[in-house]
Amino acid sequence: MSNHEYRIEVWDRDGGALLETCCRAKTDRLIRAAWPAAIEDYPGRFLICYNGAHVTDRAEVPLAPRSDTEPAPVGRISLFDLPEWYQLFAYCADCGRMEEVDRRSPKLEEMRLRPLADLAIRLKCGSCGSHGRSKFMVRKIPR
Ligand SMILES: [Zn+2]
Repeated sequence: MSNHEYRIEVWDRDGGALLETCCRAKTDRLIRAAWPAAIEDYPGRFLICYNGAHVTDRAEVPLAPRSDTEPAPVGRISLFDLPEWYQLFAYCADCGRMEEVDRRSPKLEEMRLRPLADLAIRLKCGSCGSHGRSKFMVRKIPR
């Protein structure tokens, strides 16, 4: 039976460390029902769903903001994977300026499949002019 066990593993990041197995199930139907719940429960983690030895699903879950008002750093996700209800900000590590970025700008749209962390090094701070020292941050759009 053990090679036909369905499970969801929680990793700290893709290729990182296994933290725990958050769910085990006997059937495909049950594990599919658990998958969306696991995505809600493990913000900022990397989830892998297995059917025995086979990977059936993988997801990097966006990091949930610590509060509704404070933007949080974004992991190695792309704009494509960032849910619609997140605002995007650029944060300058040199002067501390935080500025909202239009996530629908054609320039970003073009690179929507690339990890935001890789694109951040191209950002130039509008305040101090610092280049390559900015990070992308995200915040849930206030309702
Ligand atoms: Zn700056």
